[in-house]
Amino acid sequence: MRIPFGVVNEWRPEQTRKTGHLPGENVMPHLRETDYSTRIRPGTIIVFGRRRAHEVVEIKERPLDLRPQHFEDEWTRYTEWWTEQFMAGRDVGPQPEKATWKHRPLVIALRPADQPNAKPQHYAVRADRPFYVLPEHYSVCRLCNEVPPCTHVTTEARVEAEMAKTETLMSIPAGCCLSCGEPITSRMKAVRFPGPNLWRPDLGDHSAVFHARQDCADSVRSYRRQWEQKGHEELQPALPTEDEGDNT
Ligand SMILES: [Zn+2]
Ligand SMILES: [Zn+2]
Repeated sequence: MRIPFGVVNEWRPEQTRKTGHLPGENVMPHLRETDYSTRIRPGTIIVFGRRRAHEVVEIKERPLDLRPQHFEDEWTRYTEWWTEQFMAGRDVGPQPEKATWKHRPLVIALRPADQPNAKPQHYAVRADRPFYVLPEHYSVCRLCNEVPPCTHVTTEARVEAEMAKTETLMSIPAGCCLSCGEPITSRMKAVRFPGPNLWRPDLGDHSAVFHARQDCADSVRSYRRQWEQKGHEELQPALPTEDEGDNT
């Protein structure tokens, strides 16, 4: 029995694993075009904004004097960091130049991929920001027009995962590991957390216990985070109890 923590990971379109990189100096200079990576050009369809398919109309360098202030601030911070590292004798590569800095803003002109006559909108994006690239015959959700999985679907999946997690958790007998639900014998090492049981308050104080083994470590980390947030720093979790010395 495993409790599925972190079931919903970072979003990724279902229909493509291809990542596109913008053209320009210092952007993936040795890029090889494969099923997984490609160069973005006018005509390329990318996912942008809220899971929307957009056609790239144009990509341009942004003149230095037209860069948004937050890019300027970042450049200043970056060069300060670079100088510090350099002075400290660390190898941080060649000194970056403002005009070709890999985080510099490029301007991309985009329009909704299903509206070929729409007026393109311009966006400033980092030169090294990758995008998901869709095939010409891409699909969208019929209800919301988003690239699948759409927001509704991922929200539903998250809620379901939460419910499954709760059900699994509620079925764990007292004294068993709150990660795998299996008993903790006297010969096994365990991690116990003092104070109220944050996941199963019904089991009473000082009842949160986990196996001190790799398989259950993710749950311990996750519990410890919540436990520390609740202000239990002053109490120390009982670290792995000593072996009971039964050598059979
Ligand atoms: Zn939808
Ligand atoms: Zn366990």
